[in-house]
Formats: sequence, structure tokens, C-alpha cells
Amino acid sequence: MIRLKVDPLNPEADSIRKAAEVIKAGGLVAFPTETVYGLGADALNPRAVEGIFRAKRRPMDNPLIVHIADFEQLEEVAKDISESVMEIAQKVWPGPLTLVLKKRDVVPPETTGGLDTVAVRMPAHPIALQLIRESELPIAAPSANLATRPSPTTADHVEEDLDGSVDVILDGGETFFGVESTVINVTTTPPVLLRPGPFTVEELRNLFGDVILPKEVVEAKESAMALAPGMKYKHYAPTKPLYIVEKNSIFSDVVNLFRQRRKAVALCSAETCADLAPPKIVMGTKENLYTVAKNLFKSFRELDSMDGDIGVMESFPERGIGLAIMNRAKKASAHRVISSLEDVERYANDLS
Ligand code: AMP
Ligand code: MG
Repeated sequence: MIRLKVDPLNPEADSIRKAAEVIKAGGLVAFPTETVYGLGADALNPRAVEGIFRAKRRPMDNPLIVHIADFEQLEEVAKDISESVMEIAQKVWPGPLTLVLKKRDVVPPETTGGLDTVAVRMPAHPIALQLIRESELPIAAPSANLATRPSPTTADHVEEDLDGSVDVILDGGETFFGVESTVINVTTTPPVLLRPGPFTVEELRNLFGDVILPKEVVEAKESAMALAPGMKYKHYAPTKPLYIVEKNSIFSDVVNLFRQRRKAVALCSAETCADLAPPKIVMGTKENLYTVAKNLFKSFRELDSMDGDIGVMESFPERGIGLAIMNRAKKASAHRVISSLEDVERYANDLS
């Protein structure tokens, strides 16, 4: 494995070229996007794509997002795109919105988990865009973590999970949003939200008019009859049990009650953390939830490496980027949601 430091504001041509050669030869390159780090391979090469699944230990029926750098590549991988969807794509790309479209035959079933649709996105990150351009290929890339682990927002996180199974890591520093792209299926009218992300529901409704928000997406439920194959699987989880406290008014009482039994690490905003004794992880500020999104997955990894038995996390309003934060948090907690002090007792068995 080689790790190359790259300046996002002025990506070194030599490093990008080396990484592009690896992609062309069917290898794996981890690279930063504006959301999280991706684990990339030639999206049109089934053997290369299989390498991604092997490295991540990801179930083969969970399809990958295909990353493109221009609209010619969009035409190359997707078909039957309505004029209105095309107009919207031209407005929002590059950006953190993934569109599920009808796929063309050049895209192998390995990339799309056997579906006749393909998820496509043009990332707003100079390193990602230059890597795609230099490779002259669409790049399939899920998040560059082991399946079920929190998504990586730094090159160190990638190395933690994938050292030995990735050929190149392009280290472009910390990613901007810190949560994965919004995914929307636009093959139906109205379109259906499959994963909340940095591109908010409010923005989607402005663009598309009506957008369907399925109950399982809002509740972040893993379901066997999933709308998106990824919804079947456990995600983003720290190794230690994580509890989400629904109401802020009881947060410190819940933490203290847990602390009578186990060493509980509080995960909270600077405002809420201020009154609490350590151990605690400050995730950002309530005033600006983008700070919480950016630190979310890093906080889950920190919880695992810290001295402590469990994590207890504050809830944030499910508006704007808050919907994506809470979607990841609920999954990471395996739906251990606390809405009253009695709930702490209910979880007592976990704690004995
Ligand atoms: P990741 O690559 O880990 O960011 O996950 C990509 C997400 O997009 C997963 O939840 C996939 O299930 C979903 N996805 C990818 N392609 C499709 C598709 N063709 N139809 C529905 N969902 C998709
Ligand atoms: Mg992922």
C-alpha cells in the first residue's frame, strides 16, 4: 500500500497520475470526496469491483455508487434520463446528491448488485474529480471502511480499516460534510428518498416538488424488503453499545444514571457537554449542525478507542443536515433509543 499526501486546493499531478494508473489496471484507490473517503475501482470492470467487496467485506448485493466527472460519463452509464432530471443534475452537480437511474449494459451487475438501475454522483472535490478525469473511467466507490464500521473521514480511518487491502490512499485531509451523500431514486415520479444526507430534504423538495420519504428511511430501520439494498444491513456502528437520548432535558440525568453501573462516555454538543464530567466527546455545536455531522463518525471511532464501556449520545433536530445525523446515529445505536429514565432500567441487562 502507498499513501500519498495531496493538497485538495492544488492536487499534485504526479500523485493523481499514479493513482489513476492503479484504477486503470483494476486496482483499488481510496480518495477523499466532500462527504467521506471512497474506496474506488473501475466501475466497468467486474474483477476490479469484486476487489472492493472483498476489501470491505461487503455483501455482494449491496450496490455501489458510480462517480463521474462530466455529463458524457453520465450518458455512458445511465439511460432514459428525463429532461427535468437532467436539468436538476446540471444544477446540483458536482455535489453530495446521488441519483438512482436506469443503467446501461456497460455497467456490470457486480457494480449494481444485479439491479437494472445504477446510482450516480459527481463529487464536489478536486481530488476525486481529477482522479476520475485522469483515469478516463467512471469510478465505483462505496465508503472506504470495513462494512458495518463508521465511514472514514480521514486517511487514518481508511488505513485503520483497509491497510493491506487497498493499493493507494490519497490523503487529502479531513472530508467536508462527514456524512455520506443523499441518495434519491428518480426512476419513479415522485422520486423516493433512499438515504438522507448533506443535500437536504428541504432542498430536494424545492427542486423536485414532491419527494416521497418512506417510513423506513426516516426511522433508519434495517428491513429485509429494503427499498435500497443497503437498508438491509447494519451500518456505521462503533463496537461499544451506543444509546441515543431522545429528549435533551433528561440527557445529563440519563448519563449519570448509566454511570452508576458502567463507565459511560457522553457524546454531545459543546453546549450540552459543558455541564458534564468526563469522559465525554464534544461533537460540535448545536448552533451549527454541520459541525456535528463532520465529527460524527470520528466520534464513534473515538468512543471505541477511549477508556469507557458504552456511549450515550444526545439527539439533534431532524431538520436539514440533522436528518442525516440522526439516521446514522440510530443505525449506529442499533435503535437503542432512550426516551425516559425508566428506559435506562429497561437496558439494565445490557449493563450487568
Ligand atoms: P455506500 O456506497 O456505502 O455509500 O452506499 C451506497 C448506498 O446507495 C447503499 O445504501 C446502496 O444500497 C444504495 N444504492 C446504490 N445503488 C443503488 C441502486 N441501484 N438502487 C437503490 N439503491 C442503491
Ligand atoms: Mg458505506
